[in-house]
Amino acid sequence: MKKPQCSRCGRALSDPFSIAVGMGPDCRGDLAKKGWKFPKPKWNVIRGHVVLVGMDGKVEPPPVNISDRKKKARKVKDENAES
Ligand SMILES: [Zn+2]
Repeated sequence: MKKPQCSRCGRALSDPFSIAVGMGPDCRGDLAKKGWKFPKPKWNVIRGHVVLVGMDGKVEPPPVNISDRKKKARKVKDENAES
């Protein structure tokens, strides 16, 4: 079985949210600066332990054309418009 590791830098992941996303906090922060979006973790406290109960959203790469940003991406493109 394989250990959870960052899909970007390959470092081992330890916190549940990073594991769920497949990327560590450093790389997430790095990519976030480049326009990537990441889900927001939903935490819950269960019997004194903070537990990841889900997340809001998903990992989304930035639009291909960064200059399109001002167009205010209302929808993230039609993925696979054809087919
Ligand atoms: Zn990483």
